[in-house]
Amino acid sequence: MSRFLSENYEKLVPYTPGEQVNEKVIKLNTNESPFPPSPKVKEVLSESVIDKLNLYSDPELKELRIAIAEQFGVTPDMVFCGNGSDDVLAFAIMGFCGRGGELCCPEISYGFYPVYADIFGVELEQIPLKDDFSIDANDYISKNKNIVIANPNAPTGLTLTFNEVEKIVASNPDNIVIMDEAYMAFCGKSCMELVKKYDNLLVTRTFSKSHSLAGLRVGFGIGSKEIIDDLNKLKYSFNPYNLNTLSIKAAAAAIADNEYYDDKIAQIVETREKTIADLRALGFNCTDSKANFIFASSDKISAAELAAQLRQKGILIRYFNKPKIDNYLRITVGSAEDMQTLVDSIKEITEK
Ligand code: PMP
Repeated sequence: MSRFLSENYEKLVPYTPGEQVNEKVIKLNTNESPFPPSPKVKEVLSESVIDKLNLYSDPELKELRIAIAEQFGVTPDMVFCGNGSDDVLAFAIMGFCGRGGELCCPEISYGFYPVYADIFGVELEQIPLKDDFSIDANDYISKNKNIVIANPNAPTGLTLTFNEVEKIVASNPDNIVIMDEAYMAFCGKSCMELVKKYDNLLVTRTFSKSHSLAGLRVGFGIGSKEIIDDLNKLKYSFNPYNLNTLSIKAAAAAIADNEYYDDKIAQIVETREKTIADLRALGFNCTDSKANFIFASSDKISAAELAAQLRQKGILIRYFNKPKIDNYLRITVGSAEDMQTLVDSIKEITEK
């Protein structure tokens, strides 16, 4: 630490991203898609777009917001885009809870929520999960605090039902409820339609998982026009050009290509179900994950040891050295072949 860092940030514990590597490994540690982006993405990133990079990107992100709005049956003024959904979550937590506001979230959930709460001066309540790692919706009903929940939750992959989400949103009318749907594409019933009924709901999504564009850094939030206006106010006070021209074009092309992505998402879901069944057959305890990752533990070998041994075999998975989940592994669902290699390697290690 230098002598110059503000004392406000001295104790800040930053988020730890999953490792990115150059060597050839089977990479199942950061919930990326095993598939390349839609071919339409390449088509729009033509030389003519590159030649225009001397100009600033469109701060209103019109092309992208229109494309997203069309997909979700809302108006573009209900869409806010960010540099990854992390950016959207940051603006939302800053704007609706910052400088002394209150927020609650599940105790075991996305590691960035406590970091944002800390950096923006938010009082955070972390609510324990049930013993089976599920979220008890009753804990959030009439909570009278702002709420952020990942649905499906990470790293457990478990979901709240549509009705549970609606009860949470309806019973907290004077607070913002952020439903982080980063992994919802792999699971089914989004609560997106509720944004037209409730003005306190913000649903966030990302292109990083289902749309094979983690490296592009694009995410978005959908909510009432008033919520989106507030987020824009913050954005224009901080970083008006938060998306670059290439990202705007590429993401707009991607979101329109349902045919391509529906097929890839279906393959990931199929592979997830098969791998969960294979791991359970090897004696693993797996949650009923509805995301593009599996959350698993074994009585035969500690999670830390298994992660280390898989690494030696060139397979990266995510181990969290955190209370309550330190014997679990989060394994991204990769290609069918890579998941077979994973299962074979785990079998070899555990049956040695
Ligand atoms: N929410 C959850 C639950 C996540 O796991 C992630 C991925 N780390 C994000 C949001 C942010 O993803 P991105 O910034 O790539 O959109």
